[in-house]
Amino acid sequence: MKKHTIVAMWEEIPDDADDLALVRGGFRTYLCLCGKSLPDRAGAEQHAAETGQCTTCLGTTTEDIVPGYSQKCTACAGTGRRGAQLTWELAYVEAEMTITVQVVRDLISGFTGPFRLSQVADLVRDTLRLPVGRLPVGPRVRDVLRQLEAMGELVLVSAPEQLLRGTTVVLYNDPYWEHVRN
Ligand SMILES: [Zn+2]
Ligand SMILES: [Zn+2]
Repeated sequence: MKKHTIVAMWEEIPDDADDLALVRGGFRTYLCLCGKSLPDRAGAEQHAAETGQCTTCLGTTTEDIVPGYSQKCTACAGTGRRGAQLTWELAYVEAEMTITVQVVRDLISGFTGPFRLSQVADLVRDTLRLPVGRLPVGPRVRDVLRQLEAMGELVLVSAPEQLLRGTTVVLYNDPYWEHVRN
């Protein structure tokens, strides 16, 4: 059986590179261990899907965010497998249906000061009586809070834990938000 782990090698990155294109798989050359040539990110993802591998980490189990910074792939729980990735996606869809924007909005309405992501996730788990580990509560709650932030209801008040590329590609471990006062 051939191995189809796909490795990505960074290319020269110009200072004015598009950060979104960078974190989404640009500025790299992709090569599969089976020898198949993969022209770009889309080709690499397609080959990963065809060979049963996670399309985010391409079977490597780690996700390269910027040169010099990688993290364990969250899309497939660090397994590198497409099956695990699909299971995660289904669980996320279920979390989306269970943890609606309105549910989160109601739960955080009582907070007067800043509150953290983990605090809201715990509250959601307790209120909806969700067993730990069954649904991706943290990632879903994070997405809802970001949505409320984009809608102007919340404001992010914590500084990022790490600046990966200037101030545009940054990492937050457990960010704080606060209600926007009118
Ligand atoms: Zn291959
Ligand atoms: Zn993965």
